[in-house]
Amino acid sequence: MAFKLGPHSGRMSAVQTGGALAAAIEALLPGMCPHCDHPLEGRDRGLCGSCWSLTVPRAGSACRRCGVPTEDSSEPCLVCLQAPPPQSATVAWGEHGGVLRTAILALKHGGRDDLAAPLGERLAGSIAVESWASLIDGIVPMPSHPWRRLNKPWAASELLADSVSKRLERPVVQLLRRHGTGRQTGQSRARLLELPQKSFSARTGTDSRTLLLIDDVTTTGTTLRRAAEALRRAGAKDVYCGVCAHAPDPRRFS
Ligand SMILES: [Zn+2]
Ligand SMILES: [Zn+2]
Repeated sequence: MAFKLGPHSGRMSAVQTGGALAAAIEALLPGMCPHCDHPLEGRDRGLCGSCWSLTVPRAGSACRRCGVPTEDSSEPCLVCLQAPPPQSATVAWGEHGGVLRTAILALKHGGRDDLAAPLGERLAGSIAVESWASLIDGIVPMPSHPWRRLNKPWAASELLADSVSKRLERPVVQLLRRHGTGRQTGQSRARLLELPQKSFSARTGTDSRTLLLIDDVTTTGTTLRRAAEALRRAGAKDVYCGVCAHAPDPRRFS
């Protein structure tokens, strides 16, 4: 599980010295910064202070509907113009690279649940300034694949949703179910775009609510679309999306 990008401290990382297994074991140690290997100190939360200082909100304009970068954020992107998404707006806090990528991967795969609160607080802070934030009735975590829940009963998105819930003072509502559509990790983006329309279902209780769907990362936006569609099919009044990071999609620039 070599999710590290290498330390900026100049010290040798566990990946370099002991391989992926050592990195995985080290990642389980809550007292170390997963990016630079430095011990965490008194007020550090998840990452050391210098690594947190390197994580910054996205700069530049993005499509307000789906969250992907665009030249003019006052207009929907071409994809959203051609096929408007079911969500009314999407907030993506950062770009999925550097320290932020390490932090998200450590949360998802390294057992570093202590990163959920500080990451969720940053995402919630960027949502709180949106005009629609006060409309949110409930916060819905993106459910993980059934096969993944066999190994880990909770998803990173659920931990993030808890953190966002505390900051926005809205309840978490578990409304979505994900159906077995195979692993997404490692699939081509073309396959991701083919994600079946019925890959999610929403249980009753969705009626007339304005919901905020939370996930860790979005790339093509297809997963958010499918999940938001399920909530709308179940009667949600409106759906908004919040993700910690947007991962660039090379197809958009090729
Ligand atoms: Zn660090
Ligand atoms: Zn868009």
